[in-house]
Amino acid sequence: MNIHEYQAKELLAKFGVAVPAGVAAMSVDEAVAATETLPGPLYVVKAQIHAGGRGKGKFKELAPDAKGGVRLAKSAEEVRAAATDMLGNTLVTIQTGEAGKQVNRLYVTDGVDIDREFYLALLVNRATGRISMVASTEGGMDIEEVAHSTPEKIHTIDIDPATGFQPHHGRAVAAALGLTGDLSKQAAKIASQLYDAFLGTDAAQIEINPLAVTGDGKLMVLDAKVGFDSNAMFRHKDLAALRDETEEDPAEIEASKYDLAYIKLDGDIGCMVNGAGLAMATMDIIKLNGMFPANFLDVGGGASKEKVTAAFKIILSDPAVKGILVNIFGGIMKCDIIADGIVAAAKEVDLKVPLVVRLEGTNVDQGKAILNGSGLAIVAADDLGDAAKKIVAEVKQAA
Ligand code: GDP
Ligand code: MG
Repeated sequence: MNIHEYQAKELLAKFGVAVPAGVAAMSVDEAVAATETLPGPLYVVKAQIHAGGRGKGKFKELAPDAKGGVRLAKSAEEVRAAATDMLGNTLVTIQTGEAGKQVNRLYVTDGVDIDREFYLALLVNRATGRISMVASTEGGMDIEEVAHSTPEKIHTIDIDPATGFQPHHGRAVAAALGLTGDLSKQAAKIASQLYDAFLGTDAAQIEINPLAVTGDGKLMVLDAKVGFDSNAMFRHKDLAALRDETEEDPAEIEASKYDLAYIKLDGDIGCMVNGAGLAMATMDIIKLNGMFPANFLDVGGGASKEKVTAAFKIILSDPAVKGILVNIFGGIMKCDIIADGIVAAAKEVDLKVPLVVRLEGTNVDQGKAILNGSGLAIVAADDLGDAAKKIVAEVKQAA
């Protein structure tokens, strides 16, 4: 689960991290009113969307040479102009894709005098089983480009969660950023605070870009991207309230209501599978047969009929889906429950695309009998390879 920059900064501030003062605004008037509570004379008006690259982004509705989603303003009137330009309009950045994202919220912050911009991120490093801090002096711009063309400018510092953040980690971060003296101490402190925030919130990533040195020699977080481990959200009811569903795919929201692991993808073949490993294998074999999966979907073990029905309806609600492949290995999950769910969903939603079903395991005969007796046009498959071949052939034939 991702949150907005203003929420991330408010959260990090609770861990002591230095951030500029700021006020979130849902309307132009609120944005203008924010200037009264900020010191001025410089303000920054920032579009709040779940994507980076806002500064260099473009608004679909504005002239091509209009400024992007992060604008400096020197008066309340300039804040008004910037807010009017942004609110309700669609911002396209390198991270939003071509469709862009509608800006519904703004963050008006105190404008900081920037001397230097660094990059500092924390993430779970699955290769080492540790929390990695990634630091670079090349902040502010596209970090992917830095990683690509000058990888030596990116430093990774691993922290073993068993022993936690130690003073030498702080010194390593400061050294990676080329800092000495008081700034080095500030960097070590911010790194330690970010580590506490990372652990304390079960974050999946915290990305600070830029971490700025201000004109008066202070280290400050000017932009923060924070995402949490969704599997840990039950431990953080307060953080769950920060979710902005307008930033998410409606099908993924629906799936999360039923505790289904669903990710929308770009292909044509909807997949309903149990178990993440089998789901990956199913996606692979669809690709091997020359087509692409429209989604990743793991209904999990021991799903109820309601859950299976919801899953099937979610797949069918995607207009890109030209065929469905159900691939179930019944262990804890029983094949008759899957069959019941498919039949119930297909009755509620008019099934117009080919459906190939491969069932194996517990109660497989009952499952097959339910499907055969349903009157649905279902193509039965014997194994995974057979199922993939059949759905690809069916979709091509229907086209
Ligand atoms: P992003 O484009 O989505 O990554 O948004 P950022 O919040 O990182 O802002 C983009 C750029 O705007 C930063 O790299 C800074 O150069 C600039 N910027 C952001 N906040 C301030 C500020 O308070 N003062 C000044 N002078 N520039 C800022
Ligand atoms: Mg940034």
